[in-house]
Amino acid sequence: MNILERYHAMEYGPAPEARTEADAWLAGRDFGKALFIDGGWKAAASGKTFGTSEPSSGKLLAKISDAGAADIDAAVAAATKALPKWSASSGYQRAKVLYAIGRSMQRHQRLFAVLETIHNGKPIRESRDIDVPLAIRHFIHHAGWAQALDKDFPGHKGVGVVGQIIPWNFPLLMLAWKIAPALAAGCTVVLKPAEFTPLTAILFAEICERAGVPKGVVNIVQGGPEAGVAIVNHPGIQKIAFTGSSEVGKIIRKATAGSGKKLSLELGGKSAFIVFEDADLDSAVEGLVDGIWFNQGQVCCAGSRLLVQEGIADALIAKVKVRMSRLRVGSPLDKNTDIGPLVDATQLDRVKGLVAEGARQGAVCWQPDAVLPSSGYYHLPTLATGVSPANILAQEEVFGPVLATMTFRNTEEAVELANNTRYGLAASVWSENINLTLHVAPQLKAGVVWVNGTNMFDAACGFGGYRESGFGREGGREGMFEYLSAKLPLGPVIKPTAASAQPVEQSDGGAIDRTAKLFIGGKQVRPDGNYSLAIATAKGKLAGEVGLGSRKDIRDAVAAARACKAWPEATAYNRSQVLYYLAENLSGRAGEFTARLTELTGANAKAAREEVEQSIERLFLYAGLADKYEGRVHQPPARAVTLALHEPVGVLGIVAQDSAPLLGLISLIAPALAMGNTVVAVPSEKYPLLATDLYQVIQYSDVPAGAINIVTGPTAELAGVLAKHDDVDGLWLFADADTCAKAEADSVGNLKRVWTGNGRSFDWASDEAAGDALLRRAVEVKNVWVPYGD
Ligand code: NAD
Repeated sequence: MNILERYHAMEYGPAPEARTEADAWLAGRDFGKALFIDGGWKAAASGKTFGTSEPSSGKLLAKISDAGAADIDAAVAAATKALPKWSASSGYQRAKVLYAIGRSMQRHQRLFAVLETIHNGKPIRESRDIDVPLAIRHFIHHAGWAQALDKDFPGHKGVGVVGQIIPWNFPLLMLAWKIAPALAAGCTVVLKPAEFTPLTAILFAEICERAGVPKGVVNIVQGGPEAGVAIVNHPGIQKIAFTGSSEVGKIIRKATAGSGKKLSLELGGKSAFIVFEDADLDSAVEGLVDGIWFNQGQVCCAGSRLLVQEGIADALIAKVKVRMSRLRVGSPLDKNTDIGPLVDATQLDRVKGLVAEGARQGAVCWQPDAVLPSSGYYHLPTLATGVSPANILAQEEVFGPVLATMTFRNTEEAVELANNTRYGLAASVWSENINLTLHVAPQLKAGVVWVNGTNMFDAACGFGGYRESGFGREGGREGMFEYLSAKLPLGPVIKPTAASAQPVEQSDGGAIDRTAKLFIGGKQVRPDGNYSLAIATAKGKLAGEVGLGSRKDIRDAVAAARACKAWPEATAYNRSQVLYYLAENLSGRAGEFTARLTELTGANAKAAREEVEQSIERLFLYAGLADKYEGRVHQPPARAVTLALHEPVGVLGIVAQDSAPLLGLISLIAPALAMGNTVVAVPSEKYPLLATDLYQVIQYSDVPAGAINIVTGPTAELAGVLAKHDDVDGLWLFADADTCAKAEADSVGNLKRVWTGNGRSFDWASDEAAGDALLRRAVEVKNVWVPYGD
């Protein structure tokens, strides 16, 4: 083809990126010693290796040491040995190391990009312009956090040794998201890359050697699930940070239950790409290309569900098909390639299988007329139309270049369809009406929302999911908290309650029916089972009876909490007023509550009065903070602002301890309410009358029906029901260690956020048991990206 013909054809010539340097690096390394432990290169103790190949050809690239339990032991030992010095080093010292890593990576930017493309298959444009620069930005950004630690996170320190496990879709970027905040916080790490993509982590370890990272601070082990399991279960590790599939995330949640390990899970997604009829369609099409075909759709936050308003559906689909026909599928090292191969043959088979099943379930799958390269794991970009909401392509994370399309008629339907998924990672909203987009964004159950854009990321802006997309954030201030811990105001160990209630002596006047009911949906209701529990005074007399709550009562209470829209939708000022009102009404009955505390717990009058006063003060505190614990605005290096909004977690289960039964309950309920959560509370099993006495206070304080629900009864049983309930979004649990561990394990159904005292009670009277530490747990941070300019 001559130049003129090429001009008329508008065809690109080949533009391959040179791979000489990367090949030389591959040829020059001994991958049989690929474990970076204690600053040195080790072979696996077992001598085992595994092969890693090039997705565009299937050719073997290297045989890599395959770590087993003994190697993980060695890596954890090295990280443990390095911890005291590293965590005691000044923020400035750690900042210098982080900055040196970033600078050193900059000097090897091209090698990183080419290597990433060779062994992951992602187009070189992406690794060169997105993955590698963003990874570098993470290290440089977090140098600043290392120095800001004392000022910005007072009372916090690094959690210790962290185990980090990452997937193969962004091998270097995920490594950066993990290692940068951990080092800034003063933690030492044992990181395991995915078995498909070990190479850039090896190059990164070389950078650590050169950048002055002290021995043992960063340890990088290689291997598959077996090595991952050894990290997760290792007793020498204080935190697990995992990015990968929701399936493995759930296994890890179970495995760490009761271990006291801090846990963050960044999991899968099925993100909605919503196009309203007043959107700029050409921009939306370009956004969609980026949203679903970036990295062949192997992106956790891929906009894999196109929701388009009915009136423009045909026009948009026609434009999408034209654009798809122009996507260039081919060698990922070619600078003009849009779509490279999938990472592995198994992934290709999985995607093909899902597309076939989607078609069998009624979707119409369309692909452009393009010729695939003769070797490699390529899959054509695929558009599925006529997709029903239950179709596998609308529900399952395909993790491939496959777009499922559905239509909607109005805003409510768009939101409903978008939220019709067990995931909650990201969403993209397209409309020229910014008011509409900012009206829709808060209604989407997703951790990140892009307005008229997609796949925008930055080290300063938190990233992470709602629901089964996991918990915890990476990046920015929220991300730093994942690697920090504060001194806990621990109280005594909580013992399991005796299996059967102690018989209690009947008091005078026992003929009067003194059974307190449950409080559900703003009303006092009888327990479903119609049984009650006798509650004893400190002297062993009958103080009264409370309803024996059961599974069915918890179900009703959760339904009432879910149905209560008035509270989460109320303004913060309104919530603040109601909390003040609660405080005022409790204050009006302070004498009565003091007497009740004394009667039940045996506390002297002074101590009881103090607990009541502190409870009132706590209500006042959270009333005051309700409209002050707000989100932030980030200014990332892009023409966009990112609104880090604080949203309620949703329906929160709260299980209170026996010690300080009034203050403990109020100290948990008040911050949850302040942030707009609705609550199902199980009060102290031993002293529930303090909670049932609150019913009237609640009823007189303008609390909307369903915002607070109280179910009395056996702690362990009711906590178990809350933990398993898939419509409970979070659980705060102060109970014996077994109950806490079981609840963590049982929470995997919907991956609810569980916070327990691990079998310890809290000293709720202490200052550390109030304020931001609680409010932070009461919110999800949603990052809404709003671009500006033409
Ligand atoms: P995966 O869950 O199969 O594997 C992830 C990592 O976990 C790998 O390193 C693997 O070796 C290890 N692993 C596997 N089984 C394990 C076990 N039982 N215990 C401990 N470790 C174990 O996921 P994948 O296929 O590598 O990656 C794709 C998934 O990652 C997708 O679901 C994607 O959405 C998700 N992802 C999420 C984010 C995010 O930030 N939310 C980012 C990238 C990818």
